[in-house]
Amino acid sequence: MLNRRSLILHVPLFYFLNFLPKVTRGFEIAAVRIWPSEEYTRLAIEHLEEKIQIQYSNERNPDRIIVKIFDMKITKQNFNKLANINLKNTPIEKISTFDSRNNETKIIFYTNPLTRARISSIPAIAHYRDRLVIDFIPAKKKDELLSFLENYQRGKELDKKLEKQKEGKKSIIIAIDPGHGGEDPGAIGKNGTKEKDVVLKIAMRLKRKIEKSPQFKVFLTRKGDYFISLRNRIKKAKRAGASVFVSIHADAWIRPDAKGASVYILSDKGASSEAARWLAKKENLSDLVGGEIMNKNDEVAKTIFNMSTSAQIKNSSILGRNVLEELSTISYLHKKTVEGAGFAVLKSPEIPSILVETAFISNPREEKRLKNGLHQEKIASALNNGILTFIKDSKIRF
Ligand SMILES: [Zn+2]
Repeated sequence: MLNRRSLILHVPLFYFLNFLPKVTRGFEIAAVRIWPSEEYTRLAIEHLEEKIQIQYSNERNPDRIIVKIFDMKITKQNFNKLANINLKNTPIEKISTFDSRNNETKIIFYTNPLTRARISSIPAIAHYRDRLVIDFIPAKKKDELLSFLENYQRGKELDKKLEKQKEGKKSIIIAIDPGHGGEDPGAIGKNGTKEKDVVLKIAMRLKRKIEKSPQFKVFLTRKGDYFISLRNRIKKAKRAGASVFVSIHADAWIRPDAKGASVYILSDKGASSEAARWLAKKENLSDLVGGEIMNKNDEVAKTIFNMSTSAQIKNSSILGRNVLEELSTISYLHKKTVEGAGFAVLKSPEIPSILVETAFISNPREEKRLKNGLHQEKIASALNNGILTFIKDSKIRF
């Protein structure tokens, strides 16, 4: 407790501290990464200082996006880390900076006309420090769904001309979802193989296999190395008119001998095992690691995805069993039955959805196999066969 004397001594010190001029901190950049894609370009600036205050604006003539960081100065050395990034295939033309008089740093991004920004400050998560994430969105962005549907329509017209007997038969659209991407690498193997890279390769192989049959069209939720939120993956699949949703992943565990493939579905009655609960929690972290930027409308939309139906879960379980059976012919099974937990990416109210853990990337032998083209082909074949069996035997009208 303070006695009278110490109180008297403390008061002037308190005043003194309060009237000291604010010390401007340095904006220390730990890493800069850029992820160009057709939809948007994401710039992630990892910084040492926690809790920064930012403000941004879009300016015209010339087109630029100005990001103000308050109470921060940036040294030339730190700025160069930002200025030296590769701007190829991005809407950014040039980056410049200046410290203004009132102790703030302005970073100016000169962009292509009609580029708008979306900015968020993301607290440290997983292996990342605090991040300033800036998305550069083209105003006239190529709508990949629209072009998918246009191609689909064109393909249908072609089919009609070439195969008159098949006229009237509607294509079945299958959504293939390569997990992770961009800022979110997913699990990383001992030799540096990233989950996001191998699952994209398997997904592309699977697309080619499925589309060998003219009856099917595949919609890929991502085609390159960029981040997509879990909800957006569902939303895109739904808009594309998908009848089946298959999310492709690679597992990881602390023990390097954990091995094998497994298949998961959404569970509305809690997780089927502690391991499944843990896995769902880990996969759901993708939005935080990848840096999901949400607005108010997104919050409303979020609740829609929490309404799974028993029919969806039942059909997902059948699809899961079909796929698991096929996987057993090419791989050891980590789990002999389909397991369930609260996977956010499977929360589509109508579409039968599964998440496949193709193998353990944390197991050096399986990591090697995951990178191998021949083995990727085997996984793709197994997934293809499982999906086709489900569609053939299902009572659902596609
Ligand atoms: Zn994953």
